[in-house]
Amino acid sequence: MACWNRLVQPRVLIARYPDEWRQTRAIRLAYAFEVIRWACQQMPGRSTLAPSSHAISVRSAYRTEGYQAQLKAAGYATAVKSQHLQGRALDLAPPAGMPTAQFYEVIHNLATTTIEEIAGIGEYSTFVHVDTRPNRARLATWHRTTQDAQRAA
Ligand SMILES: [Zn+2]
Repeated sequence: MACWNRLVQPRVLIARYPDEWRQTRAIRLAYAFEVIRWACQQMPGRSTLAPSSHAISVRSAYRTEGYQAQLKAAGYATAVKSQHLQGRALDLAPPAGMPTAQFYEVIHNLATTTIEEIAGIGEYSTFVHVDTRPNRARLATWHRTTQDAQRAA
């Protein structure tokens, strides 16, 4: 649930993350991730697929300020108040054979029926951003499938 910024070994990096992230935020994200994974597996025609077909890749998770700066320097349009910097966001690639738009709909349905922790969902060309931002007044949603394909949401 945390990005490896390539400068620090993961075991060292994880110890640098705030206690609040390790004790609450990561758990909320892990819960959302597992429900999303389960829901995808239960979809018609998917439950009989090979286990490898159910894999959901985490493209991005917790980002340090340093890693965010690296992304910006590399030309990615990063959000100033990114939920990734708060340890509250995951960018997830859909499982094999599932279009990104369908994956977005699965997550949106879960966010409005089952997983109240999900407060933000963004659809991109190859992944869906999911976050658990605090004080959810309403579900924040956006679609950037035709532009900013390289955006690091
Ligand atoms: Zn994101």
